Amino acid sequence: MQDTLRPFEAEVGRVLDIVVNSLYREREIFLRELVSNASDACDRLRYESLSEPELLGEEPELRIRILIDRGQGLLTVRDNGIGMNREDLVANLGTIARSGTARFLEALEREKKSGVELIGQFGVGFYAAFMVADRVVVLSRKAGEERGWIWASDGRSGFSVREAEERPPRGTAVTLHLKEDAKEFLDPARIEAIVRRYSDHITFPILLEVRPKPGDTRTKDHEPRRINSAGALWTRPRSEITEEQYREFYHHVAHAIDDPWLRVHFTAEGTIAYTALLFVPSLRPFDILDPRRRHGVKLYVKRVFITEALESLLPRYLRFVAGVVDSEDLQLNVSRETLQNNAVVARMRRTLVRRLLDALAAEAKAESGDERDGKKKEGEAGDGGAGRRGFLDWWKDFGPVLKEGLIEDAENRERILEIARFRTTAGGWTDLAGYLDRRRPGQKAIYYISGENAEALAGHPQLEEARARGVEVLLLDDPVDEFWLPEVRAFKGVELVSLTRGEVDLSAVPPAEGKEEPPALAEADLERLIARLRQVLGEAVRDVRVSKRLRESAVCLVAEGEGLDMRLERFLVQHGQIGGLSRRILEINPRHALIRRMAEMAAAADGGGEAFAELALLLLDQARIVEGEPLPDPGAFARRLSRFLARVPVAPES
Ligand code: ADP
Repeated sequence: MQDTLRPFEAEVGRVLDIVVNSLYREREIFLRELVSNASDACDRLRYESLSEPELLGEEPELRIRILIDRGQGLLTVRDNGIGMNREDLVANLGTIARSGTARFLEALEREKKSGVELIGQFGVGFYAAFMVADRVVVLSRKAGEERGWIWASDGRSGFSVREAEERPPRGTAVTLHLKEDAKEFLDPARIEAIVRRYSDHITFPILLEVRPKPGDTRTKDHEPRRINSAGALWTRPRSEITEEQYREFYHHVAHAIDDPWLRVHFTAEGTIAYTALLFVPSLRPFDILDPRRRHGVKLYVKRVFITEALESLLPRYLRFVAGVVDSEDLQLNVSRETLQNNAVVARMRRTLVRRLLDALAAEAKAESGDERDGKKKEGEAGDGGAGRRGFLDWWKDFGPVLKEGLIEDAENRERILEIARFRTTAGGWTDLAGYLDRRRPGQKAIYYISGENAEALAGHPQLEEARARGVEVLLLDDPVDEFWLPEVRAFKGVELVSLTRGEVDLSAVPPAEGKEEPPALAEADLERLIARLRQVLGEAVRDVRVSKRLRESAVCLVAEGEGLDMRLERFLVQHGQIGGLSRRILEINPRHALIRRMAEMAAAADGGGEAFAELALLLLDQARIVEGEPLPDPGAFARRLSRFLARVPVAPES
């Protein structure tokens, strides 16, 4: 019964196109991908068999076999795991089932690198087989089902699926017809070396078997031979695990190709017993901000895989973590539903979070210690091996996610604040402890300004006074900042204060040298001016008042002390969460030449007349522009500005 050729899903076609034509050097990774799939298939069957023991049937020992057929140039990876039926084959091997492959495609769009460079970085799962094979045949029978199926493809024109004539053994056999230039993978020593390198940690036995060429009597490899150590890596003593074994295990659990940046491996033996092996990646996963992304920690019970991405096991803000947690206390037949509200899981979660944050804090501390000793500068690699990223570099990619914990996890807020790094007007980045150390005499708060982009923020009028007094200001330009700031009022008892909201008084801090204040307008003149501005601007502003934060600029906008910060409001308006921006407070600088001039105008009998009104409206629009807020009537602004400039006398040439 011959099945017609079906086309691959468009995305698969693209991946295959790159894979088939790839000149990727480390083609050997195809074997890692196939063995990894075989191991997952065994894990899944073992889990299913907890509730349906008959699924294991006549073959209770789960294992993976690699067969070399030299005569025919075939390499087969066979498992007796869960298997696939017709629908599974079509869905899993004809579409992009694997997140790693989707990642590969996204990176291809984004990074404008060639596919070959990216294969190594992302891995392409099953499809990697086409790097070494010009035909792949998959024979599979799903556990508990009677019929077997054959999937076949040349990796170019599409794939076919037909029913197998005889009932195959349970599980999946992937047979590669090796390309002419890939015959090296018929060498048992080569296969063994690859398996040891990438797949030694696989918990099932991997057996190697060689079928000799007809007439070849030299080979003694007929008997299947075990080529991996097949113990759960996480149960071995740490001192016996090499860096490379850890790395390959990380690649396997995280479906990632980067190096782990940080590792936490411990065994708890108190009232509840479990082992955890967790990894923090070096490279930011592309979908880290996708709300659907889940953490990559697999839950095992007494070495049996139970489930992955269990929400109650790790908080969302640690969704970049991958690894394994293996419990001795949970029941093997625990259902996924009861796990969500399980007390043992909740207790493990608390410890996992704490251990991870402690490990991150240690990294952060090691680096800031270095900085204070002047040993290391921004962007330089850390010392944990060639090319390992320094903490700050890592933070720039992962900090935005970790900061979500400031909202979600009140219990660990202080811990996260200690780890966090922020840009500052002092240049570069700082931690809060460093900021507190540099406080000026009389400075009572941690000052920050938040907005869409740190470079622009540094030039904002609202921080002029702080700068003149040598007070450092944190420049917060991460969208998530707006959301935790309202929750986190202080650090080590020192209040966090926004420079764009409410009243800010820095007068207790002495001015920095050479920054003494020029004289301000007299009280009576100011009062008259403010009254006149209120009259002219009317409903366009909430209020007009004298500023304590301006130096060079004439005016700025601020939000009410009790209200939302301006940037959060803009964000909420953009996302349709609130109808519109609230009215702003216009602050004026009583020392600015223009404000002095306007005070003089306001003192005239007609209060400065039309010219005053024009100027007032111009100033308000200017403050809006600086703040990045939309002008209600840009045309009117432009006409007003032109009229005004037309009146300025042209300077005589010197
Ligand atoms: P991934 O393994 O990362 O999901 P792959 O492209 O390697 O991506 O495989 C796609 C899917 O095909 C897998 O998720 C799995 O459902 C199925 N699959 C692949 N190999 C096997 C196998 N040996 N046994 C059972 N299912 C498999």
